Amino acid sequence: MKRGPYASRWEPVLAEVDPSHLRAATRLAMSGAVRSRAWDGAGWRAVVERSGTRRAFDVWLPKLADYAGHARDVARWLAMRPDWLAAHYAGEWDESFLDFLSAHQVEVVPTGETAARLRALSTCTCEEMDPLCPHVVAVLLAFIWEADTNPLAAFRLVGIEVDQLLDLVQEETAALASAAGASGRTDVPGDWSLEEWRKDAPVRPLGRMRPIVRPEIRP
Ligand SMILES: [Zn+2]
Repeated sequence: MKRGPYASRWEPVLAEVDPSHLRAATRLAMSGAVRSRAWDGAGWRAVVERSGTRRAFDVWLPKLADYAGHARDVARWLAMRPDWLAAHYAGEWDESFLDFLSAHQVEVVPTGETAARLRALSTCTCEEMDPLCPHVVAVLLAFIWEADTNPLAAFRLVGIEVDQLLDLVQEETAALASAAGASGRTDVPGDWSLEEWRKDAPVRPLGRMRPIVRPEIRP
């Protein structure tokens, strides 16, 4: 399967998965065995069917971080960078967007903690002892592959839905346009509030739940 730039960022995480589980997960995800994904506020519930049997497993995948409260910040980035938004609509990743997300450690791009988080919190009803069983990994792959050709879908992993994000982008774009019109300037207004983001993050057992914003790197 051809991997896009987003899926490539997941290679270090997938390298920590048992190779036989990864192969089985790839088969499951490619055959459409991952069904009925539903967000429960803390993560994703999904059912993974097992081919040739009536058995199915219930999988739960934790959110990678909680950025639901930062949806508007993400929307503002996209309003400032219409090229990033255009790439999304074209079904491809803009490398500078990926680099930007990495630089700010926005965890739609996996970090060094991602594999540990998935291993510690994911659950499955199969008998496998390894938490990164084929079913858990199949659900993860389904999300990754989807986001490879639908970049904003990556934000589902941190609790932001694509439609919600696009609605906010529209609002932020309108706000930018009217601010530029009022001031007669075309540059970005200075209300880019980093203060909220700079506050110490509430640290969960598996690390930071907020992005680290580096003010010198702007959209
Ligand atoms: Zn399983």
